[in-house]
Parts: sequence; C-alpha cells; structure tokens
Amino acid sequence: MNQTLTLYWIKRDFRLLDNIALTKAIEESDQVVPIFILEPSFLNAPDTSVFHVHAVIDALQDLRHQLQQKGTDVAVIKGEVIPVLDTLYQKKKFHKIVSHEEIGTERTYGRDRAVNDWCTQYSVEWTEVRQTGVFRRLTDRDKRHKEWKRFMFSDIVPVPKSLKKCVHPEEWSTLFYEKNRALTFADTPFQMTSEQQQYVQAVNETAALQTMQDFLQVRGFLYRGGISSPVIAFTAGSRMSVHLAWGTITGRVLYQATQARMDELQQLKDAGDPYAGRWRMSLRSFTSRLHWRDHFIQRLEREPEMEFRAINPAYEQLEYDNAPELLQAWNAGMTGYPMVDACIRCLHTTGFINFRMRAMLTSFACHTLHLDWKIINHPMARMYTDYEPGIHLSQLQMQAGVVGINTLRIYSPTKQIIDQDPETVFIKKWIPELRPYSIEAIVGHEEEPVDNYPAPVVDRKVNNKEMRSRVYAIRKIDGYREIANRVYEKHGSRRSGSKKKKPVVKKT
Ligand SMILES: Cc1cc2nc3c(=O)[nH]c(=O)nc-3n(C[C@H](O)[C@H](O)[C@H](O)COP(=O)(O)OP(=O)(O)OC[C@H]3O[C@@H](n4cnc5c(N)ncnc54)[C@H](O)[C@@H]3O)c2cc1C
Repeated sequence: MNQTLTLYWIKRDFRLLDNIALTKAIEESDQVVPIFILEPSFLNAPDTSVFHVHAVIDALQDLRHQLQQKGTDVAVIKGEVIPVLDTLYQKKKFHKIVSHEEIGTERTYGRDRAVNDWCTQYSVEWTEVRQTGVFRRLTDRDKRHKEWKRFMFSDIVPVPKSLKKCVHPEEWSTLFYEKNRALTFADTPFQMTSEQQQYVQAVNETAALQTMQDFLQVRGFLYRGGISSPVIAFTAGSRMSVHLAWGTITGRVLYQATQARMDELQQLKDAGDPYAGRWRMSLRSFTSRLHWRDHFIQRLEREPEMEFRAINPAYEQLEYDNAPELLQAWNAGMTGYPMVDACIRCLHTTGFINFRMRAMLTSFACHTLHLDWKIINHPMARMYTDYEPGIHLSQLQMQAGVVGINTLRIYSPTKQIIDQDPETVFIKKWIPELRPYSIEAIVGHEEEPVDNYPAPVVDRKVNNKEMRSRVYAIRKIDGYREIANRVYEKHGSRRSGSKKKKPVVKKT
C-alpha cells in the first residue's frame, strides 16, 4: 500500500511550539511536506503592505532555520494555491492536507473554498484545525466564553520531538526554491526603506518567546496606565500583536504563561511584596485583551460580509463626503492636526501605534474628515504589521460609530496632545517641522497656525457637529432600536457570563 503523504500547509502559523496542525500531520502520516506558498494574490492584495511581507519573510526564515537544525526544511514555492496543488499532484499524488483554520478576508475565504472543492475533486482529505479561541459555525454564543476558557487552559502541544517524517519528495525537487535559498524582498514587489528596517518589529517565533518573557518579567509593570500614550506604549504594551497575528505564538501559550506569572505574583503579594499587586492588575488587564482579540475575530467568522458593509445595516445610509484631497492629507500625515499627523507618519515608518491612537485616527478620518470607514480600511490595514482582519474590521466599524451598540466617541486630537504627549516628545519625533515650537504653540496650532506646517485642513468642531447630527439622524429612524438590539444579540460581548445582558439601546 502507498505510504500516506501529507502536505502541512503553512498559513499564518509560523512556529513549532503549539503547532497542532504539524503535530497532527506527523502523527497521522508516513511522510509530511511542510509547504509555504507565496501567493501573488497576497502580494497584490489592496490590504497587503511592506510590513506584512516583512512579517512573512522574517517568520518563515526563523521557522526554516529551526527545521534545518533538525535536519529538514520548509518547501517554498511561488504561485496561486490551486495551480500549485495541480502541479504537485500531477508529479506525485498526495493524500492529505493539514492546516490551521484561518479567519480572514474574502480573498482567503474564497481561496479556501476553492481548495475545498479541489480536494473533493481529487479525493484528497483536507483537515483544518483550530489554533485560537475562535469557533467556526458557533451556534450558541452564550456558551462561547466557557468554551474559550476551556480551549485557553487546554494542553499546549509541545515542539515535535522528531521531524524525521518531514521530507521533500524527489519528484517535486525542481518546483521549490532551492534549499538554503531564503525568501527575500527581491521575490516580491516590495522594498523596505532603511528607516523602516531600523524600526520594524521582528516577527518570528524566537522573538515572540523573548518578547513574551520580557513583557511578563520586566515591561508589564507599566502596562496599566501606560498603554494609552504613544510615548510609553511602545514599551509598556506587550507588543505581542504581531506575533499573534502571524502565528509565531498562540494566544493559548501566552495566556497560560500570563496566568502562571499572575500566580507567582499572588504569592509575592501575600509575602508582602509592595509591587506585586500593581503587577498583577496590569496582567489582569492584559488577559482581558486576549479575550477581546478572539471576541472580535469571532465577529468576522460570524459575519464575513462585515468586510464590505456595516454590521448595523442602518448605518449603510450614513453619508460621507469622501473628499480625495482629505484622504490624501490623512494618509500622508499632512492634515495640520499634529497628533494625527505624528501617528500616521510613525505608522508609515514603524508599522505600529497603540490602541488609543488607532481609535483617534479612525474617529478623525470618519467624523472630522467625513471619510467612509470603507475607504480608509485598506490604507489603515497596510499601516499595521499586526493586521488581523477580524480585529481591524470590528474596531474600524466601532470607532467609526457604525455598530451602534456602543457610545459614539469622537476624539479631539488636540486634547490627546495634552493628555498623552504633554511634553510633545512624540510629536516632535515624527514631525520635524514642529521641533522649533513651544508646547503652547503646538497645542494652539488649531486656532493659530504656526509657519512651515499645514494649517488644519478642516474646521474640526464644525465638521464633528455635522457628523454627529448625521449619526443621530440615523439613530432616530423607525425601527432603529430593533436593528441595534439584533446587532447586540448577534455580536455583543457575553463576557460576564452566559446570561443574556439587556439590550443596550433602550429608547430613541
Ligand atoms: C482601528 C483599529 C484597528 C485595529 N487593528 C488591529 C489589528 O489589525 N490587529 C490587532 O492585533 N489589533 C488591532 N487593534 C487593537 C489594538 O490597537 C492592538 O491590538 C494593540 O495596539 C497591539 O499592541 P500590543 O500588542 O502592545 O497590545 P496589548 O495592549 O499588549 O494587548 C495584548 C493583545 O491583545 C489583543 N488586543 C489588544 N487590544 C485589543 C482590542 N481592542 N481588540 C482586540 N484585541 C486586542 C492584541 O492581540 C494584543 O496583542 C486595532 C485597534 C483599532 C482601534
């Protein structure tokens, strides 16, 4: 009988620890080929950027290095998935594909449907395994939190002891990149500037484990209270988002390591350590965010159409002006609002900004510049190395105010300077034109513009008032209350238990 030959298809799961798919492939097959397919449709997608290509190159290189040390390698091939499968299959038949589930955009969802059809046609068995606390085809949302906890506390899958079954069949040898030939930017239409290279975060399993330890043992103390300011968040935040997004670590490994550290801190607190209490509170806030992560990705799993339309259909009527010159000013960091421009310029160079500033950038684009969340979706996705479609789309819609189950929040970028960068350290770092000016002049720029830096492109207060009235007009339409309650039933958080909370919208 033929030996079972399996493809372990690497997607966003560049790691050896807690790699359920690879472990399963090894356990259930005689031979396994770990394969990474560099898809032109990924490289050319409107939401792909140099930061994402960097993540793939870095993460893959580290994984290959680890495998090479164990005597094997990843087979790397460029092409669309279906033609690649066709070519491989023609040269040598394989029996199974194992991969992790992916909750992505229409592009990856459509590709996976095509792979499913291909597998049915050739009687190849495709197993997709879950690697996060996001559940496919979840029927009872009230049980989600319990199931999430169960998954998060379940056993971590160790690094496979032996990779002897991982092979590269001779028949396929000419199809793949040669052994030891690393994937580089030259294989893609992207290039990184030297400034980006200097700032961008490493995205690989080795860095993931180091960043986690550094956060849990050293940096995490400042987490609570430290993550709102763009001055401090680069070190006070865990910086684990890129690793979770590209699968160089699992949320489960991170969650369990955090719980273990919290237990240790509890003992220190009981023994009288004066810092242990604050440490613990910081880590508690952090674990909540690990929960939010899966909660928001679950939204996209439940409603993939949210990529193209508001979760709350009432807001499809919301009017935006979509002035191209304002989109351009926002995307170039040239709006004349220092905090907005500093964040955008920082993002273009580093691929990162903290949560509060992302929320402010979205609110400013939608409420102040009157740009539709749909037209800033891709430009924003390209700015984040940690781009995770489910979180990105959920947050984009929430901050734009089109979910309608949260309070409408319109940020003042000028207040954010006073609250989050009172010494204008961050602003002066990213806007050299403002370096000669005092804090007062920078804060006062909105009313009295300084020289050599754009005057505000719009009158913020007038525009905010206009957008607020457009949003409230929608909240007054007939049947709004029922629509918002349906959205809440479908997508609202059930974190505090399995009991259904009361609908948030009571009266309009
Ligand atoms: C418009 C907008 C778009 C965003 N897009 C993304 C995205 O594409 N990918 C992404 O990972 N985060 C996104 N976020 C959430 C958040 O800004 C980042 O997760 C966070 O800044 C990453 O830094 P950190 O790893 O230091 O986070 P920490 O504060 O240390 O949080 C730990 C982890 O929890 C998760 N997390 C944190 N905040 C949130 C949140 N509000 N919702 C869901 N999960 C959260 C992330 O995985 C993060 O790594 C977005 C927020 C906004 C407002």
